[in-house]
Amino acid sequence: MSDRLIDTRADVARANRILANEGVLDAFGHVSVRHPGDPGRYLLSRSRAPELVEPEDVFEFDLNSELVKPTNSRLYAERVIHGEIYRARPDVNAVVHHHAPAMMPFCITGTSLVPVFHLGAALGAKVPFWDQKDEFGDTNLLVVKPEEGRSLARTLGPHNIVLMNRHGATVVGASVQELVFRAIYSCRNAEFQFQAQALGAIKPLSPGEIERAGKLSSLPTATHRTWEYWLMRLEKSGRAIGRAPGIAGGRRARLVTSKKKKVRGRKR
Ligand code: MN
Repeated sequence: MSDRLIDTRADVARANRILANEGVLDAFGHVSVRHPGDPGRYLLSRSRAPELVEPEDVFEFDLNSELVKPTNSRLYAERVIHGEIYRARPDVNAVVHHHAPAMMPFCITGTSLVPVFHLGAALGAKVPFWDQKDEFGDTNLLVVKPEEGRSLARTLGPHNIVLMNRHGATVVGASVQELVFRAIYSCRNAEFQFQAQALGAIKPLSPGEIERAGKLSSLPTATHRTWEYWLMRLEKSGRAIGRAPGIAGGRRARLVTSKKKKVRGRKR
């Protein structure tokens, strides 16, 4: 396995854990990252609560959301959300689907989610709203069929986030760091908007402000700084990868791999 793939699997585990630690994910929801060496594949955990995901739980899927190598592990039902968005959006390299409490009032009422503070510009100018019922009638609301995933990806269009009626939200990013930034600050924006609307009329950012502030929030200075901060908070919570008792972590696994490589190199 290449070092890039090892790192990306660890990033999938870290992103899941950060978003759980920051209140975006709970027992449900999932993060994926596009395969670093093959744009026709993505990396996603087996079915597990996000806060428990280890790098070893992360499997490769093709864009039909089928496993590349068979496993007996139980898989997430809503994989097509990831596969169909990667297929429709070559610019997207990371996806999270969640049911964060901050978003639910907007998912339930259809109230427009709009950037109300500078970091909220990560939402983008428009947050589309998808209702599974429009095309598919009565379902259990899980996005399971490929056509359901395609319909969601169509409604997402070129935007950053799509709200899902009575269900949750799906967020995309050009990198895993940008994704985590966007997922966390969009929830914060939802909380602020909800609270501010209780106080009085809100004045969202103008289209020009959204464009300018949105660019700022995808700069590495912002995404790296926040990633480091949220990783530190994860460490403090005792839930960083490789810290759970009896479970080998990505970092340890990686050390072992590189040592083996070195030994082999010397022999030659
Ligand atoms: Mn869901």
